Amino acid sequence: MKALIVVDMLNDFILKDGALYSGEQSEEIVGFINAKIKEFREQGNQILFLCDNHEVDDKEFDMFPPHCIAGEHGSKIIDNIDVVDTDKIIKKRRYSGFFGTDLDLYLREKNIKEINLVGVCTNICVLYTAADARNIGYTVNIYRDGVATTDEAAHEFALKEAENTLGCNII
Ligand SMILES: [Zn+2]
Repeated sequence: MKALIVVDMLNDFILKDGALYSGEQSEEIVGFINAKIKEFREQGNQILFLCDNHEVDDKEFDMFPPHCIAGEHGSKIIDNIDVVDTDKIIKKRRYSGFFGTDLDLYLREKNIKEINLVGVCTNICVLYTAADARNIGYTVNIYRDGVATTDEAAHEFALKEAENTLGCNII
């Protein structure tokens, strides 16, 4: 089995009035992500959602405006992403979905060795999740049309870094 990991498609990042709006590029990938969710689900593969979920006084807010506060509207997955009960939702407090979560344990218990990443932001949570995954031996594919960030140069740099330095496949 392989996994599709949907990163941070949350109200605060994707909605125009969200606390940390990731730009129109982030809205434009929703259709692609839903198509991938459908494809993976039909093939019997696992869908996971990584969801930023912060304390009200989280240390990350030294760098970013407060966003994705636990329990608040901003921390919820956007309405037009297709989530079902068998999907796995993992809350995280840092960029990497592996930091302080049971993501690795969950994947290992399901014998999943290949992960496929979509979501935001290419150069932040996608990149650092990819880095941790590569460090512990996962095959990592990143869908170029399924990831986005506010800054086009950062987007391209992150994909290059993922491919050339981390050994991810950009597909
Ligand atoms: Zn955050």
